[in-house]
Amino acid sequence: MGKRYYCDYCERSFQDNMHNRKKHLFGVQHQRAKKAWFDHFRGYADILKDEQAKKPCRKFLQRGICDFGPSCRFSHMSEAELFHLQRRVQDERHRSDGSEDPGRPEPNVDVWLAVREKRRSGGAGKGAADAREEERMPSDVPPQIFSIPDLPPSLVPPPPGGWKVNGDAEWG
Ligand SMILES: [Zn+2]
Ligand SMILES: [Zn+2]
Repeated sequence: MGKRYYCDYCERSFQDNMHNRKKHLFGVQHQRAKKAWFDHFRGYADILKDEQAKKPCRKFLQRGICDFGPSCRFSHMSEAELFHLQRRVQDERHRSDGSEDPGRPEPNVDVWLAVREKRRSGGAGKGAADAREEERMPSDVPPQIFSIPDLPPSLVPPPPGGWKVNGDAEWG
């Protein structure tokens, strides 16, 4: 029995010889573990930005191995992994918003008002353009609300496109 090589990234050891070392250091698992270790010190958002800017590494995605390893200038992330990362970035953002439940973030009135104010002052052309903008906004109505029967009128969510309001109506 010879020495054993312990890999800090993967937290596992194996018999130390050239063959094993090479096999391990170039293995997918090790590359992933090493990358994850470094990524630990960076925000998910940064990683996502990096990876999205790169073209996918066809070699890596097809064969699971690439000579350039983590320093490859192409992305080694599959679509599923990118999607996963995106979810994590979103989760992280919600958490830094200060909402307690990361699973279902509370809509933030201030943010909503700011967006609305920007839209109103920015878009002079009313009508169709406005409606289109409305559709692009993510709905802040919790879906459960539709399953509650006999809602008081003040809690009924607005129809798609919003309530019809006269252009120069003023709030009392
Ligand atoms: Zn390793
Ligand atoms: Zn590559």
